[in-house]
Amino acid sequence: MMTLTPSQSVPNLDPAIESIREKVLAGQRLTLDDGKVLYETRDIWSVIELAKLVRDRMHPGVAYYNINRHLNYSNVCALACKFCEFARKQGDEGAYTRELGDIKEQGHKALESGATEMHIVGGLNPYLPFAYYTDMLSTLREIAPQIHLKAFTAVELVHLARIAKAYTRDDPKVGVRWVLERLKEAGLGSLPGGGAEVFDERVHKEAFKTKIGAHEWLDVHLVAHELGLNTNCTMLYGHVDKQDERLRHMEILRRSQDQALHRLGYEGDADGYIASGIVESEQISAPVITLSGERAVLPTPDGINSQRAATVKERSSESSDKQGLLPDGRGSSESDQVLGGYYQTITPLPFFPDGSALENLPGPTGLENLRTLAITRLMLDNFPHVKAFWIMQSLPMAQVMLEAGADDIDGTVVWYDITKAVGEGTHQETTELDLKRAIEEAGYTPIERDTLYRRVTRDGSRWWVGD
Ligand code: SF4
Repeated sequence: MMTLTPSQSVPNLDPAIESIREKVLAGQRLTLDDGKVLYETRDIWSVIELAKLVRDRMHPGVAYYNINRHLNYSNVCALACKFCEFARKQGDEGAYTRELGDIKEQGHKALESGATEMHIVGGLNPYLPFAYYTDMLSTLREIAPQIHLKAFTAVELVHLARIAKAYTRDDPKVGVRWVLERLKEAGLGSLPGGGAEVFDERVHKEAFKTKIGAHEWLDVHLVAHELGLNTNCTMLYGHVDKQDERLRHMEILRRSQDQALHRLGYEGDADGYIASGIVESEQISAPVITLSGERAVLPTPDGINSQRAATVKERSSESSDKQGLLPDGRGSSESDQVLGGYYQTITPLPFFPDGSALENLPGPTGLENLRTLAITRLMLDNFPHVKAFWIMQSLPMAQVMLEAGADDIDGTVVWYDITKAVGEGTHQETTELDLKRAIEEAGYTPIERDTLYRRVTRDGSRWWVGD
């Protein structure tokens, strides 16, 4: 009896994927050309299967969620990015800025609901003084010391350096460092990843030309990493961007992560693939470090990876002792401090045209979202986590994405003003039960995590890190 080979029996199977499969199995870094194949192939299911392989290797059998609340303190913004449906000018209908009393109330509600995280972002409000931001954090810290404050995107932090008069054109990093040090003292725990959009000068000029570009965004995250703060990043795609521009965005991010991990003691591969002409910044001079191979050590203090984390911790402490790599003098035994200073999560964000200045564009389709997420997992081989943010993908789609490379679906959210992908209003809440059910139905064990991806144990609204 004649046996059909896979390429004969499955019409969409693409032989070009096979060389990529070998690299993925060997835990090797994919090239930009590999990424192009992954975007262009008709065999999307093989792309998804490869991303699932990597995701299952890095997080076998589990998927993460958290109990969080978003706080958008003001939608007044000095800029007018074309893809933005959130920003308003002062005095416009719907423009708002939360008073400190309102913020206190939000803190109390977060505490009562048992949230482990407050995710705080807003517009670049030119009418608020720098003290508003430090007061906001210290007030929340006082009300709810256990809640992690993940706050302010890179563009907000540059804005804060400007209003604090700490910003200098010669070296913007100096002002950002000054601001971050004060925010950290006031309670800042980590940075979200918004505002990266797509790192490309053409896209920057066309869609968000007054906002900071790639270099400044990367500088802010570099300074945060140096201060021991973990950060996250995003890719807002599906507007004026092209696929090769998305791939370059991924290359820039993974090089930035190479640098962060190298600082934490990872050695890496000096001969690994680095795309030429992409990252001109002399700051990124680290070897290639991949975390997607069989024996890679993920930089997380989470209990399920405690053995791996212990190894990194040891190496990190050794590095800091010997080489003084942690510039703020850290070196205590507190795990999030020792392990801090890298990108935790990449979240691909599909563009929603409605209400933006680009509403003539169609926005990405479901399959494009699925493919982009899978490619993100495959290309960003040194990012511990890939998030399917359910607010922007929908919960059913986020559930499917757990099979396509994602290991995290974010949290309960409650209020989210940035996009209104689900329903008409800004009350966009899901329950812990729904998140757990979505994960279980996808075949994974749900793990409640804190912001730093440590396992959380819960008794109603009471919770603690660890078992
Ligand atoms: S994307 Fe951010 S910086 Fe741009 S207009 Fe909207 S709120 Fe302002």
